[in-house]
Amino acid sequence: MVNPYSWLDKSLETIHRANWYRSVKAIAGKPGAIVELAGKPVVNFASNDYLGLAGDERLIQAAVDATQAYGTGSTGSPLTSGHKDLHRDLEKAIASLKQTEDALVFSSGYLANLGAVSALVGQRDLILGDLYNHSSLKKGAILSGATAIDYQHNDIADLRYKLIEHRSLYRRCLIATDSVFSMDGDLCPLPELIAIAEDFQSMLLVDEAHATGVMGKTGGGCVEHFNCTGTELIQIGTLSKALGSLGGYVAGSAVLIDFLRNRAASWIYTTGLSPADTAAATKAIEIIKQEPQRREQLWQNINYLKQKLSSQDLLPSESPILCLNLNTPKAALNKSQQLTQAGIFAPAIRPPTVPTSRIRLSLMATHQRSHLDRLISSY
Ligand SMILES: *Cc1c(COP(=O)(O)O)cnc(C)c1O
Repeated sequence: MVNPYSWLDKSLETIHRANWYRSVKAIAGKPGAIVELAGKPVVNFASNDYLGLAGDERLIQAAVDATQAYGTGSTGSPLTSGHKDLHRDLEKAIASLKQTEDALVFSSGYLANLGAVSALVGQRDLILGDLYNHSSLKKGAILSGATAIDYQHNDIADLRYKLIEHRSLYRRCLIATDSVFSMDGDLCPLPELIAIAEDFQSMLLVDEAHATGVMGKTGGGCVEHFNCTGTELIQIGTLSKALGSLGGYVAGSAVLIDFLRNRAASWIYTTGLSPADTAAATKAIEIIKQEPQRREQLWQNINYLKQKLSSQDLLPSESPILCLNLNTPKAALNKSQQLTQAGIFAPAIRPPTVPTSRIRLSLMATHQRSHLDRLISSY
């Protein structure tokens, strides 16, 4: 008798041999520019907490207050008992930040992408996605049953070529892209994408996960950064990065949101966001509006580090995500370990997440100049 689970060991061995094996590291204490890793304080370049809000006392207090008023769990799916006034308040705050008619809050950004993509297209439809899109967009495409074709990263000519070849064979078409690419830090060419979507009667979905609160004059994201506010788009994002909480959203026209409330399975059939997460995210949006200096400080840090690291193998970036290229997964792991010993927490990102190995740095508004200098002298 062969044990039906014995393939698991073999599969893990293969992962080890390729140096692709991953494991979790426990971080102690509150999030911030300095965190405790394996009992030792390290400068944190591994977090998505771009504005330093995840440890902010005001978010913590909002979460505590909401827990006391509404309890720990939301107790049901949004269409049954899981929707409270505070969920609606958050949706209104998101719509205001994104300057859209409405917004819908999901339990995570991953679920927002799965739900939106699979509701908007089906078997008779086409999805054209950037090759470097986030996993949630790629999995959403599979779940939808549509024909999914990747175009080369940020390559409008390739996208146009593929639209010419395939568009007319399908009913609806959805073009999907990250706005800030999460593993590279570069931006999608949004104005060109809007123009091509219009030329080919296609919907355009932009995933603003790493852009919300960071890009644009008021933190509205890449849509604001590129002066495209008001264009009819499907905007997705997360509450778990610059907003320091947990959850995801879709923002867009009132009719889009009304449709998703009726058709997005990952919203209809899952429990509503917890009161604590909901209230913390609403407070974060309030702070983002009131304290533009946080975003300004973040950009000063980005510009300083980019200038100092420019002689290294820096990948092109226009965001708080800066990547340093390394030739092999092993070299990236060694570099990450060397940095940890120097008190710098900067993860190695390897295949299959990305095509080439790298050290990925993400900057925060709350990094001090001395933190950045420590990184520069240790690299
Ligand atoms: C982080 C991320 C997500 C997922 O968001 P969660 O709220 O963490 O599930 C989706 N898309 C992109 C581009 C991301 O970077």
